[in-house]
Amino acid sequence: MTEIDPDLPVLVTGGSGYVASWIVRYLLEEGRTVRATVRDPHKPTGLDHLHELSRAHPGRLSLHRADLLDAGSFDEAMAGCQLVIHTASPFLIGKLDDAHEQLVRPALEGTRNVLSSVNRTGSVTRVVLTSSVAAVYGDTADLAGRDRFTDADWNTTSTPTHQVYSYSKTVAEREAWTIHDAQDRWGLVTVNPSLVLGPALTTSSVSGSMTTMGHFTDGSLAFGAPALKMGIVDVRDVARAHIAAGATAKAHGRYIATAEVVSLLEIGAVLRRGFGSRWTFPRNEVPKALVKLVAPLGGESRRTVERSVGWPVKFDTSRARGDLGIDFRPVEQTITEHFQQMIDDGLTGASTRRR
Ligand code: NAP
Repeated sequence: MTEIDPDLPVLVTGGSGYVASWIVRYLLEEGRTVRATVRDPHKPTGLDHLHELSRAHPGRLSLHRADLLDAGSFDEAMAGCQLVIHTASPFLIGKLDDAHEQLVRPALEGTRNVLSSVNRTGSVTRVVLTSSVAAVYGDTADLAGRDRFTDADWNTTSTPTHQVYSYSKTVAEREAWTIHDAQDRWGLVTVNPSLVLGPALTTSSVSGSMTTMGHFTDGSLAFGAPALKMGIVDVRDVARAHIAAGATAKAHGRYIATAEVVSLLEIGAVLRRGFGSRWTFPRNEVPKALVKLVAPLGGESRRTVERSVGWPVKFDTSRARGDLGIDFRPVEQTITEHFQQMIDDGLTGASTRRR
């Protein structure tokens, strides 16, 4: 049981990211002092929303330079913090030049570097790590013969060459528990969200959440969508889950964060209900054989299609609802508000507001 002093600053790593920006905003709105790490605090774009938050909450938000691959770079920002929320990690979808360098190394080395800083920083008593359901399962086929994934499940099927992002999140979370278990000063809690959607505070994120929603306007789903089912959770609920995981004394272990499971076609149907037919939201299911054929063009392997398309998936989210008190918002609202934000930000190729 760890009581967190609300007067001490909170460190949020990767503070400018899609998920982290909402964590920073809610912490500030709760009256907390926040230190956010970014790779380049002086970059001219991508930090406007944090500067705006800083102006709205004078003296309570500071930006600090830190890089996941730079050992010791989190020390300065962490000094005097009791709570560390470690979100920084790349979530990239599609074709990558070097998946190990772009995903695995920053996730794993970054976790080691951040937690080494925690071990050196005597004030820290709790770390909340943004993990993922990608560390719970690799392919939906992993559920075969069972009813639902729980926080006791670990992804055992992703490898350095198959579902590499999921592999990066799995090895990073495992490493976090190993480092945690070797000491007894600080506690570790992980939040394991499924695909996070909902309005973004920044237009600069390259998160896979943005890539996924972008596919609904870039024509790639115009002729239909694969029968792919996934958990969806609202970015604001994920942020609240992190804050509750930091503030709730009894919080422990892993917390799967998912509101509902939907298919790509169901997302298309939600978008059509909300925004009409101005965009070619998918109406038809693309046969699995065809998806398999073209998958490599989009950077996906045929094995991934075989083991992910057409399978059901379900999650046990009772711990997040119980311990953390999260009442997940309906995905219809999440998807609709995400798309409206894209329209407002001029990211859909049409800038008219919804009537
Ligand atoms: P995002 O907007 O791309 O945020 C990722 C953050 O990681 C960025 O702020 C980036 O910081 C930081 N980062 C990347 N490489 C770094 C490096 N070498 N050193 C320091 N910082 C680095 O993505 P997101 O969706 O918010 O993801 C945040 C976390 O949530 C990740 O751990 C991700 O795995 C997890 N997650 C996301 C989802 C989802 O659907 N979005 C689902 C489950 C879990 P800079 O601004 O400095 O580049």
